[in-house]
Amino acid sequence: MLNKALFLDRDGVINEYIPNNYTKKLSELYLFNYVFKVLKYFKGKGFKLIVITNQAGINKGIINYKDFVLICKYLMYYLDLDAIYFCPHKDEDNCQCRKPKNLLLKKAIQRFNIDPNLSYFIGDSYRDLLIAKSLNIKFVLVLSGQTKLKDINNWEYKPDYIIKNLKYLRKIIK
Ligand SMILES: [Mg+2]
Repeated sequence: MLNKALFLDRDGVINEYIPNNYTKKLSELYLFNYVFKVLKYFKGKGFKLIVITNQAGINKGIINYKDFVLICKYLMYYLDLDAIYFCPHKDEDNCQCRKPKNLLLKKAIQRFNIDPNLSYFIGDSYRDLLIAKSLNIKFVLVLSGQTKLKDINNWEYKPDYIIKNLKYLRKIIK
């Protein structure tokens, strides 16, 4: 049987997005206070919880890899995630995994036997929308990160849903 999943961007969705900066270590990770409860609820509903995140700060030498791994371990354990997929590359590295490219999403779908039709991608940026759209996954934009409501006017494609933050996901997915 196929599984359903919540694919989640990290910065701006589950923890605070720091404009023009990076979350470099655990002490700089500011989790939104509702995240634990919301994710626990959806896990209980049978959703796989899979984070897919661009972390160009790693290849830029700004984020220490060991510090990044520590953040991942903490999130995996505390939020009971099924997986974290990350891309360490910069735009100019021309990889296949940096969002909006969808290699990581494809890998996750295959590994966890996911039905895209039953799944959602939750993100705070146009890159997130594009990756979701590329595989026909419903996209939920949260306004708790880098996108303001007026920014969407300039987007060629629009989100399927827009919510203030992850706390309101329960209004969309019953
Ligand atoms: Mg983000």
